[in-house]
Amino acid sequence: MTKRFNDKVVVITGGTDGIGLTTAKSFAAEGAHVYITGRRQQRLDAALKEIGGGVIGVQGDVSNLADLDRLYDQISRDHGRVDVIFANAGISESAPVGSITEDHFDRVFAINVKGTVFTVQKALPLMSAGGSVVLTGSGAGCKGFASLSIYSATKAAIRSLARTWTTDLKGKGIRVNVVSPGMVLTPAMQTYLNENVGAEEWMEQAIPFGRLAQTEEIAKAVLFLASGESSFIGGEELLVDGGFVAV
Ligand code: NAD
Repeated sequence: MTKRFNDKVVVITGGTDGIGLTTAKSFAAEGAHVYITGRRQQRLDAALKEIGGGVIGVQGDVSNLADLDRLYDQISRDHGRVDVIFANAGISESAPVGSITEDHFDRVFAINVKGTVFTVQKALPLMSAGGSVVLTGSGAGCKGFASLSIYSATKAAIRSLARTWTTDLKGKGIRVNVVSPGMVLTPAMQTYLNENVGAEEWMEQAIPFGRLAQTEEIAKAVLFLASGESSFIGGEELLVDGGFVAV
C-alpha cells in the first residue's frame, strides 16, 4: 500500500518530546523525510534513537531566527523543498493576572507566537502548491483557564495567524490550519499529575470523554490536516479535546 507521505519533506518543531515526538514517528512511518528540532542536542539524540530512522534532528530554538535559517538552509541543501510544517514547539507557564512578570510574558510569546510566525515565514520560499502548514493551538485558547492568561493569549493568537495567513496565501495552494489539543497524557503531563494530587480526577471530570488524550490521537489529527484528505480545509481550528471546550 502507498504510504500517505511518501517522499514528502516534513518539518516538526519541538519534536523531541510529547506530541511532537509521536507525530514525528507517525510521519516517518508514512514515508516522510522528517526534520525535528529541539533546543538540546542530548534530547534530540535520544529522540532520534527512540524513533529509529527516517528522521533528522536539527538543534535550535524556534525563537532564534538564526537557528531557523540554519534549519531551512540544511533542508534546502538536502531536498530543496518543504511540503509540511507542523509548528508544534510551545511552552506553558502559569501566573495569576496580578503576578504576571515581563519575563513570563516575553518568554511565552517568544516561543509560542514569534517562534510559530518565523518557523512558517522562513519556510515559505521552499513551499509550493499542495503544501500544508499545521499550527498548534490549545483548548486553553478557546476557554478560560485559571492563571493561564498569557499562554491562552498565545494560543488564541495562533488561531488568528491561521485565518490571516489563509488570506495572505490566497492563490498559492498552501493550506494553513490549527490542531488544538485539550489535555494530553504526555510524559511532562504525567509528571505534573504525579506531583499534583487530585489533578487527574479534576481533568477526568472536566472532559466529557472522561480521560486525557493520548499523543497518538493528536498525531492523527495533524496527519489528517497535513494530507490531501483535508484538501478543502483552510484556516480551520480542529479541537482534539474529548469535548472539553464544548461544555
Ligand atoms: P512537551 O513539553 O512535551 O514538548 C514540547 C517540545 O517543544 C519539546 O520537544 C521541547 O524541546 C520543544 N520546545 C520548547 N521550547 C522550544 C523552543 N524554544 N525551541 C524549540 N523547541 C522547543 O510539550 P507537549 O505537551 O507535547 O506540547 C506540544 C505543543 O502542544 C505545545 O505547543 C503545547 O502548547 C501544545 N499543547 C499541549 C497540550 C498538552 O496537554 N500536552 C495541550 C494543549 C496544547
